[in-house]
Parts: sequence; C-alpha cells; structure tokens
Amino acid sequence: MTAISHRITVIPGDGVGPEVVRSAVRIIDAAGVSVDWEYAEAGAEVFRKGDTSGVPAETRASIERTKVALKGPLETPVGFGEKSANVTLRKLFETYANVRPARELPGVPTRYAGEGVDLVIVRENVEDLYAGIEHMQTPDVGQTLKIISRKGSEKIIRYAFELAQREGRRKVSAATKANIMKLSEGLFKRTFEQIAPDYPEIEAEHLIIDNVAHQLAKNPAQFDVIVTTNLNGDIISDLASGLVGGLGFAPSGNYGDDVAIFEAVHGSAPKHAGKDVINPTALLLSSVMMLRHIGEADAADRMEDAILVTLEEGKAATQDLVRQTGGDVEQATSTTGFTDMVIANLGRHPATVAARHRTQRPGGPAAPLPRWSYEAAHYATIDRTTVGVDVFIEEDTTSAVLGPLMETIAGPDLVLEMISSRGTMVYPATGLASDDVRLWRCRFVSPVGADVPDSVLLGLLERIAGRHPGWTHVEKLHFFDGEPSYTKAQGQ
Ligand code: NAD
Repeated sequence: MTAISHRITVIPGDGVGPEVVRSAVRIIDAAGVSVDWEYAEAGAEVFRKGDTSGVPAETRASIERTKVALKGPLETPVGFGEKSANVTLRKLFETYANVRPARELPGVPTRYAGEGVDLVIVRENVEDLYAGIEHMQTPDVGQTLKIISRKGSEKIIRYAFELAQREGRRKVSAATKANIMKLSEGLFKRTFEQIAPDYPEIEAEHLIIDNVAHQLAKNPAQFDVIVTTNLNGDIISDLASGLVGGLGFAPSGNYGDDVAIFEAVHGSAPKHAGKDVINPTALLLSSVMMLRHIGEADAADRMEDAILVTLEEGKAATQDLVRQTGGDVEQATSTTGFTDMVIANLGRHPATVAARHRTQRPGGPAAPLPRWSYEAAHYATIDRTTVGVDVFIEEDTTSAVLGPLMETIAGPDLVLEMISSRGTMVYPATGLASDDVRLWRCRFVSPVGADVPDSVLLGLLERIAGRHPGWTHVEKLHFFDGEPSYTKAQGQ
C-alpha cells in the first residue's frame, strides 16, 4: 500500500458509465493505490435538472481541487441544452491534448493481429471546428468557423514529441489537410515543421490526412505517434480503435497544463446499461494512463499486466469479444466477472506482451509541459496592412446583376475585385459552372494596394446597408509581414 493518498474526482456518468467506473475503481483500490474518491455528477441527469451545461458547479469545483478526473460516458439528451457535457468539460479545463493509444492486445482477434500495431493518436482537443462558432449565414447556408492558432498547434505538437520521447517512440507523423486549408491546417503543418528540429532524435514526417486514413487501413504498424487537428483526430482515432478490437478496448486521456480527465472512447451504450455485460477494458486502460499520470507507475504496470493476462488467457471474455471470436454469447463473462478476474491476476505478468513501463511524465505529474515559445516581442513587430474587405451578401439575384451594382458602390477608394459563390469566382465570369445559393462574397480591395482605413470600410458597409436582406458577414483582408492573410477564390 502506498503512503500517498490521491484525490480523484470520479464521474460515473450515464448508461453503462457507472458499471465501467465501478470496475475501474475496484481494480485501482485492489492494486493498493490509496485514493480518496470524490464522486461527482455530470451528464443526462444534470441536463434534466435544468443545468444547461451538463456539468454542475460542484463537479467543476471538485476537478479544480483534485486536478484529475476519471469519468464514464456522458449523454447529451435530445432537447436539453445544445452543447455536449464532454466537450464542455474538456474546454472548461483547457485539456488541449487528447491522447488515444491503439495497441494490439493479446486474445483480441483483429484483421491486423500479429502485425504489432502500437500507435498513439495525439489529437488537439480544444480548437478547430470544435470551437463551436457556428452561424446560419442565411436561412439556407450554415457556417462553422475552423479556428487553428499557432499557440494551440505548438502546444499539441510539443506534447506529441514529448510523449514520443518519454515512451521511447521513434517517429511523429503530423496529419493535416494543409493542401486544401492552407491557412488553418497549413498553420498546423508549418508549426510542426518549425518545432520538429527541436527533437532531432525523433523522425518527423508530414502526411495528408486522407493518405493517413488509407495507410492506417493498409499498414497501421508503420505508425508510431500521429499528431493532428481536432476533427481529423476525432475520425482517425475511432478508425484506430477499430484496428485493435473496437470501442470496448479504446482508452483515452485528456491532458491540460493543470487538469487531466481520463475516459473510454466509447459512449453510454444505453442498450447495454444496467445488464452487467459491458466490456470495461477501455476504461481500465484509461485508468492505467491515469495511474501513470499521478505518479503511480508501479500500480499502473501491475494493473496493465493484469488486464493483459486476463485477455491473453481468454478465461474471461465479455459479450463484445465473444461475438468477435464467434463463441456463445450466453457463456460470456459479466462486467463484474471480468473485473474479479483482473483483480485475481494482479501481480502476474503476461507471457506474450509487456506493459509499456516508461510512460510517466519526466519529473512526475507536477512537471510543467513545455510552453509555447512564440515571442511576444516578435508579434509586436509584425507589419500589417489592411488592403480590403470581403463582404458576404444575401440576395436573390445573379452575379451578372450584382457585379456591376457592387462596382458602382465600391468607389472611390475601393474596387470590386471579384464575387464568389461558395468559394468559386463567379464575377467577372470565368465560365466555371457554380450554382448559386443566394449568398455572395464580394471582395473589395484598394486599387493601389494601399492601407485602407476603417472609415473607408465603414463607408462601404453603409452604402451596402440599405439593401435587403443585405450583408451578413464581413472579413477584413490583411497583409502580415508582406504575406496575404487570405486565400484567392477558386478560379481567380
Ligand atoms: P456508444 O459508444 O455508446 O455505443 C455504440 C455501440 O458500441 C454500443 O451499442 C455497443 O454495441 C458498442 N460498445 C460501446 N462501448 C462498448 C463496450 N465498452 N463494450 C462493448 N460494446 C461497446 O455510441 P452511441 O450509441 O453513438 O452513443 C450513445 C451516447 O453516448 C450518446 O448520447 C452519445 O452522445 C454519448 N457519447 C458519449 C461519449 C463520451 O462521454 N465521451 C462518447 C461517445 C458518445
């Protein structure tokens, strides 16, 4: 029994959550880790009680105190609040790194068994399309802003390299869609290229995300650490779970500078709730990550070894595993039975695989992660020029009618450079076939590339403002240190 007592917030959650959380807590206690568990609520019941965040103040306070949470899945019941309580939790505590290992497990049959799949997806967890900044620009056109910052990118990319270092991994692959989204995914790629030389002992490569999906299906063992933006990471980490046995086996950790939250990748699986049939392995492996995070490396190794022995021997198999092996589901082991078996196996070592014994953060959990290095002094010296503006206008018209009208409205300090429809230039006409959706982006620029003052832009908006339904969105066009801050339209 260790002398240190840890305080951990535990959120049983919804559906099968309480069952898998109970399994994890029992094993951690049996492994001899002294934990003062602080039970807290979040999810469906909280929404139903009228808390629109799904995460009550007491739960937030508990996590602020303990800095570590073990949580079951949370539901966002339809009709109660519109934001997911999971996303709220990740954002409240700025857990910017979502770490999802996918490792071949003994006794779990997959198409890739024997190939040695052992990779970690490090997903940016706060930014990107998940920033949740959405608008209907018109009654018929929805928009979600994709926010990628240099700081957010640097934090997650450094996190990935540091993880590779401490786990003795050899390669970090950045996965982006920089070929299409040059200013958002492109910023992530450029930041990766700037940071990689700080870790010369680790191979760094950049791949386009669609190629990563293809390569993951074809030869997943080639990957080691994959670092990527939020949406890409969401999709490929589920794909990676599928490579090693499915949701019942997929753990995850959400790490921030102060707080870390550990959970299974799977959801509340309501149809299995309360039946004692769910596979707890995903949350158990998440708990192993948690034990390493809080400095209980020995207990983490014991727990991981016991899980691996249990799977390897095949004496305990939950329904999902029995289905995969083609056995009799009636004979499947219950969640409680599986948990008992893991507890009985504490102290044993698997014959065919070893636990990953090196994954503790150097310096222990209190050691700070490397912070972003972008210099404020440099930021202040960036040369900026505003060269124009994109005004999005809702109007039931054609580009042939709108174009000449906007040319008249533009002057005298601005000219209409082009109009695009969903990114494709339609005025001046290019011959490209583009359907119209009653939303036009009109780009106005200084005819001589001069710095355009706000007063000129406001004058333009005033001249446009009388139209109905009229302008809906405005985006300034800058040059930063001589580089345009915006892309051209397709066909321009
Ligand atoms: P789900 O992961 O809950 O279940 C999909 C199916 O996968 C289940 O029906 C089951 O057959 C299988 N499965 C999942 N976990 C398993 C396990 N541990 N053992 C055996 N089989 C398992 O996905 P869903 O049905 O799309 O979502 C249900 C609810 O969970 C939704 O409200 C969703 O919003 C929520 N959710 C929460 C989280 C989270 O808390 N992080 C993640 C995903 C979904």
